[in-house]
Amino acid sequence: MSKVKVATVWLEACAGCHMSFLDIDERIVELLEKVEIVYSPIVDAKEIPKATVGVISGGLGNEEEVHLARKMREQCDVIVAWGDCAVFGGINCMRNFSDRESALREGYINTPSTVNPEGIIPHEDIPRLLPQAVPVDYEVDIDVYVPGCPPDADTILWVFQELLEGRVPKVPSEMMRYD
Ligand code: SF4
Repeated sequence: MSKVKVATVWLEACAGCHMSFLDIDERIVELLEKVEIVYSPIVDAKEIPKATVGVISGGLGNEEEVHLARKMREQCDVIVAWGDCAVFGGINCMRNFSDRESALREGYINTPSTVNPEGIIPHEDIPRLLPQAVPVDYEVDIDVYVPGCPPDADTILWVFQELLEGRVPKVPSEMMRYD
């Protein structure tokens, strides 16, 4: 039986949601007998290929992330929003209390750990920030929502088992994690 192709992308996020895959522990071996990871932060692929399942962790904070989210939607049959940043916007939305220019000044000039005596704020060489950080479904349709910061291992495994059975899972409330 051919393996189910899975693409994963890491947008505006920490590494936690992707790292949480490893919490599946030894059960990941059985899972990898059934799925093939065709695109991920640790797969050296330049373009997102066609895949059955696309997993998006992280929210949208800049134009590149919007482009990647749209590309995932084009290329993948089922899109999973993975973790609070993708589902709700998450911690990235803390910057929404100020405007875009203030957020850039804070990040590139004001933070105590920053050394930037010329006060240079990059703009042309980095993707332009969106006016606000937002959840992924502000730009693309999502089929499966998996909240959690990060989602726990049993939920991750259950979601994949459902997808491998050809079902589009709706995570029951008792499996959701809001910490
Ligand atoms: S939901 Fe939590 S663990 Fe996942 S990317 Fe966001 S901050 Fe990190």
